[in-house]
Amino acid sequence: MTISDTDRRFLRRAVDLAAQALRSGDEPFGSVLVSGGGDVLFEDHNHVAGGDATQHPEFAIARWAAEHVSPEDRARCVVYTSGEHCPMCAAAHAWVGLGRIVYAMSGARLAEWAAEEGLPASPVAPLPIQTVAPGLVVDGPDPELTPEVIALHRRARG
Ligand SMILES: [Zn+2]
Repeated sequence: MTISDTDRRFLRRAVDLAAQALRSGDEPFGSVLVSGGGDVLFEDHNHVAGGDATQHPEFAIARWAAEHVSPEDRARCVVYTSGEHCPMCAAAHAWVGLGRIVYAMSGARLAEWAAEEGLPASPVAPLPIQTVAPGLVVDGPDPELTPEVIALHRRARG
């Protein structure tokens, strides 16, 4: 699959949520859960500023979906996210049986940028989603939105 205009509308929302996270003093990551029928079911952004580094929006989506969406409907959902799922979130996504993932910026690109900036390496390897969960359908990166996401991360580092 490729990234369609409809996909880009939800991806844009995910990037807007990342910007909102940054404005509220958190790291710029945002994600949206969309049903098979195209409705936004749940959306969130990073909440790691409080000291819990597992508070990623993709993880919150997986747990929310497990509680509120039937297994059949979960498989038809699409998750849009500003940055590619980390291994923890890719695993959670696969464990709860959610459907396709569309991301704006890859984890590899973020790691590359952080290294260029001389930032400390993440404690978790930037593995591609399909290395963690080979059965998932994944589309990304989006070359139109990647520079915008990088700019948010640059702003986050001051
Ligand atoms: Zn994550």
